[in-house]
Amino acid sequence: MYRNLFESHAHYDEGCYAPHLDRVLKEQGQKGVSHIINCGSDVASSRRSVELAARYDLIYAAVGVFPLSAGDLQEGWLEEIRALSKAEKVVAIGEIGLDYHAGTKDRDRQMVVFEAQLKLAGERGLPIQIHDREADADTIALVEKHRPRGMVHRFASPPQAGRAFLELGMHLGIGPNITYPEFAHVLETVRTMPLELLVLETDSPFLPPARLAGQISTSDMMGEVAETIAKVRGDCTPQELLDLTCSNAKRLFGIA
Ligand SMILES: [Zn+2]
Repeated sequence: MYRNLFESHAHYDEGCYAPHLDRVLKEQGQKGVSHIINCGSDVASSRRSVELAARYDLIYAAVGVFPLSAGDLQEGWLEEIRALSKAEKVVAIGEIGLDYHAGTKDRDRQMVVFEAQLKLAGERGLPIQIHDREADADTIALVEKHRPRGMVHRFASPPQAGRAFLELGMHLGIGPNITYPEFAHVLETVRTMPLELLVLETDSPFLPPARLAGQISTSDMMGEVAETIAKVRGDCTPQELLDLTCSNAKRLFGIA
C-alpha cells in the first residue's frame, strides 16, 4: 500500500459522495491519502469546500469561480470569494482560468473573472489552481502578466505549453488522464519536467484511470498515476514520487 498521497485537486462536495462521505473519506485515509484540497468552481461550491475543510482533518479548501461559471455570476461574487479566502484551511484560489472548448462564447467575460481572481490571489498571498482547457496562449499570457504561484490543474496541453508554464515557475497537476491514449502527449512533458514542479491529483469524482472509465473516482487512484509516471521516467519509484509530490504540494500550499 502507498502512503503520502497528497490529492491537490478534487471535488468531494459533489452529490455523488454525499450519502457516504464519512465512509469514503475514512477509507481514503486508510488507503494512504494524507491531504485533499477540495476545490470550488463557483461561489456555492467554494462555500462547501470551506465547510468540508472545517469538518474533516484531511481536507483543505481552494475557493474560486471557474470559467464555465463566469457567465452567471451575481453581483458581489468577488467579495464573497474574498471573504471565503480568509477562512481557516483555505490554501489556494481555484479553480480559476479559461475554457475555450467548443461552444464557449463568453471569452471576454471569462478573462475578466480570471484576472480579478489572479489579483485576489496576489492580494491574499495565496497560490492558484488553474483550469486551462484549449486556452493555452491566453492563460500563459495572464500568468506572465500576474506572475502567480500555483499549479495548472489536470495538465493536458501540448509539451510547448508545458514548457512555458514550467518556465514561469508553475507546477503541473498530473492526473489519471495520462492513462488514456488520447492524452499520450502529456507523457512527453511528464518524462522530462523537473520533479520539483510536479503535483498529483485526480479531479475526483470526474476522472478515474482508463481501466476504471465510467466509475466515480477517489484520491487513492493517484497510486496508478504515480505508477504511470515512474514507468515513463524510469528514474524513481511510485512511492518516491508520492513522497516527493507530497512535499512539493505542502511547500506550494503552505501546509506544515
Ligand atoms: Zn476540478
